[in-house]
Amino acid sequence: MYPDRPARGPVPGRMNNKERLLIARQPMPERDADVRSCSFDEVNLGLTADVARTEATRCLECRKAHCVVGCPVGVDIPGFITLVTAGRMEEAARLLFDGNSLPGVTGRVCPQETQCEGECPRGGKMPGVDGKPVGIGYLERYVADWAAEHLDVLPEPAPPSGKKVAVIGSGPAGLTAAGELIKSGHEVTVYEAFHEPGGVLLYGIPEFRLPKEIVRREVDRLVRQGVKIEDNAIVGRTYTLPELREQYDAVFVAVGAGLPVFMDVPGENLKGVFSANEYLTRVNLMGAWRQDGETPVLHGRRVAVVGGGNVAMDAVRTARRLGAEEAVIVYRRSKTELPARAEEVHHAEQEGVRFELLTAPLRVLGDDRRWVTGLECRRMELGEPDGSGRRWPVPVAGSEFVFDCDTVIVAIGTRANPLLTSTAPDLVLNRWGYIETDDGGESSMPGVFAGGDIVRGAATVILAMGDGKRISASINRYLAQTPVAAG
Ligand code: FAD
Ligand code: SF4
Repeated sequence: MYPDRPARGPVPGRMNNKERLLIARQPMPERDADVRSCSFDEVNLGLTADVARTEATRCLECRKAHCVVGCPVGVDIPGFITLVTAGRMEEAARLLFDGNSLPGVTGRVCPQETQCEGECPRGGKMPGVDGKPVGIGYLERYVADWAAEHLDVLPEPAPPSGKKVAVIGSGPAGLTAAGELIKSGHEVTVYEAFHEPGGVLLYGIPEFRLPKEIVRREVDRLVRQGVKIEDNAIVGRTYTLPELREQYDAVFVAVGAGLPVFMDVPGENLKGVFSANEYLTRVNLMGAWRQDGETPVLHGRRVAVVGGGNVAMDAVRTARRLGAEEAVIVYRRSKTELPARAEEVHHAEQEGVRFELLTAPLRVLGDDRRWVTGLECRRMELGEPDGSGRRWPVPVAGSEFVFDCDTVIVAIGTRANPLLTSTAPDLVLNRWGYIETDDGGESSMPGVFAGGDIVRGAATVILAMGDGKRISASINRYLAQTPVAAG
């Protein structure tokens, strides 16, 4: 806990809990839906200082901080919020950065409704004015953006340890680990397959949700701290994992799980069918949305996106921005089961995205030049719950119909890419191809650690960051037991 937090509980001149319960949750100002559906500018505009303080005042400073339990990295939420209430912004920022190295990112993309905010007692359990939790994500973003404008403090460099660590992959897991390891005095080199670091934060999540400037700022901080980054380095091709292990005292593998899964239906190889990863990478990383962008992408007029997660929402909203007159989500379960964040679904609806729920694709139709002309679908109904607890979709006989479209984007999931692992025969994988590790994140290859999506399967930004932090502590313990290599 922060050593100098403002006192909790009744303080003269400060509101008591009865008064706080009467304050409604402050809405996030948004760009107008009609304007933003033609633009890649960020949708959420951020809280003003006054509104942020009002929102912070809604925190009841509970004795048991339920919200902290809901945060995978245990950010001291009541601590930083109390400091915002008191207007002590620099301390709020330092406290927040203590627990979370990328709050400008997590404040924008964390699924707060099921994590920190999902545990806030104001969200339904308390007799408040609106039954809504404290806007923890909004406040986190506010403090991070304040810090970006007002603070640029690099951590004190640690004395050199004489140890060298390679980090493979520069998504949230790799970047967090690189930051932690350089703070410990190791020489750190990040190997990234793409031409720019950032992982999904850069190539997957679109600009209108997470401005790339925020990711680039974080990468720049790491570089100024001494982290070396080698772009265009595909481990498994440019180098192999065993080669890097020989050159480094330890290796952290954080290559994500970016291999797209396809539907396996007829017509999937027609022109105009994309995986969401390819579509989003062309637009976000290669700049295909810009007039002067060198990488092309199809600007479909009628676009069907198959899937119901964040990736599907990002793809369908991107298609709208690229000029689609009709952009449709095709999802085989109902709205209740949509795995995407509630805010993303709401924003997609506001932007005119249509939802074909309880609908499954059967085949992609094409013309004689092999261009997509439609998606044949079938209606579904919900049956018994499956192993995941969600009700299983069952086809409705005779319900087939065709959705006329020129583009189909497949966003039904991703899995581990075998590029790196297939060139490391000593690495033990599970049955789905993800790397097996012990509790400390060490793999079957001594000195090779792994974390993020390549261990968990497709998960979340904050879980990947949590792995980066936790496993770099394991790497430090491992390195403390190994002698410094000569030369
Ligand atoms: P990644 O972010 O995937 O980074 C891995 C990096 O390794 C990449 O840069 C890749 O190029 C590189 N790499 C891969 N193979 C090699 C190799 N062989 N050699 C060298 N480098 C390699 N999560 C949320 O919490 N909220 C959201 O709103 C959200 N939205 C998402 C939207 C999209 C479109 C996608 C795809 C994912 C989203 N996620 C979201 C999930 C989240 O982004 C991931 O769980 C997270 O990025 C995983 O982090 P990571 O560091 O493990 O891997
Ligand atoms: Fe909530 Fe995510 Fe921030 Fe944790 S990191 S407090 S879960 S927004």
